[in-house]
Amino acid sequence: MTLETHIKESIFENGPMTIADYMVLALTQPEYGYYMRKDPFGVQGDFTTAPEISQIFGELVGAWLVTQWVMMGKPNAALAEIGPGRGTLMADILRATSKVKGFHDAITVHLMELSPTLRQKQWTTLAGKHPDITWHMGFAEIPSKPLLLVANEFFDALPIRQYLHEADGWKERKIGLDKHGKLEFVLEAANPPRQLEEEPVSENIYEYCDAATQMGFVIANRIATHGGSALIIDYGYEHGNGDTLQAVRHHRHHEVLEEPGTADLTAHVDFGNLTHAAAIGGCTVYGPVGQGFFLNRLGALERTAALCEKATEKQKEALTSGITRLTSAEQMGTLFKALCIIAPALPKPEGF
Ligand code: SAH
Repeated sequence: MTLETHIKESIFENGPMTIADYMVLALTQPEYGYYMRKDPFGVQGDFTTAPEISQIFGELVGAWLVTQWVMMGKPNAALAEIGPGRGTLMADILRATSKVKGFHDAITVHLMELSPTLRQKQWTTLAGKHPDITWHMGFAEIPSKPLLLVANEFFDALPIRQYLHEADGWKERKIGLDKHGKLEFVLEAANPPRQLEEEPVSENIYEYCDAATQMGFVIANRIATHGGSALIIDYGYEHGNGDTLQAVRHHRHHEVLEEPGTADLTAHVDFGNLTHAAAIGGCTVYGPVGQGFFLNRLGALERTAALCEKATEKQKEALTSGITRLTSAEQMGTLFKALCIIAPALPKPEGF
């Protein structure tokens, strides 16, 4: 049975499905979920992420984490990544920090990953990079101690629900079956989450990601209790942005309802909501700032220039075009944003 058949059966039996349930099945259903069976990254795959574009991304993030660790008083800490993909970012972080006195000894490394295929890939990428690396299914498994956490393009994979307000009240946009048995979007009367109830603009689509709210809260709560810093980078907005649900396959737009499980499915991250959740969790939040602003503040240009000194012409070109892609406003510099969640006692972090 394909995932599509499974979804159709479920709708046939139980009625329209929320977009969140559809996303969870399409992305992480153990047998057919998009992330569970394949490595979707890179030119050969479906999409390319910042650490896959340039090693400088992970090096700057590594330097940022060390700065935070020093600010925190160099504690024994959990260095954690949630949604680590191929493990490239963590590999670059570990390589860039390997010469920092005491850092590798002070940390244990934790990767939160559901996909067995990607866990395997991460294991290979990270072999020999640190003696103490553990994989986890959920955040609660990461040991309770000072936390240094990174998440790049993780939150956009979390399931959202969509609501809109019509003359006769709130509706939820769900997935049903048309009369030919094809998947289609439908509207059902609904009670929206509390967060959306204020003065809706008619016919606007409002998205809400409960999983992101919860994740933002538990990360902040851990940091408020045990100390730490979290860096979240993703594409998204600060205030409502309409319908941002999208599917991508082979670097191209794909219909959201076609062949679920074969394309990446994401929604823009609501940084306003994440900020709110982290504040309720007891932390101070900085940003979001544009990824370009953040990386430039951390010395992206200087790092590029230093690497170019020892590089061949071809490598120079790759280094320069990579960093341009990550920082320029026309490419990933503005749409992608960085947010920092830190313990209230810490000073303003670098890059914000
Ligand atoms: N950070 C990586 C990969 C981003 S893709 C990079 O920048 O290249 C999203 C990652 O999150 C994948 O590794 C995917 O398997 C993982 N993932 C998605 N949903 C998850 C969940 N609910 N729990 C844990 N990992 C999840």
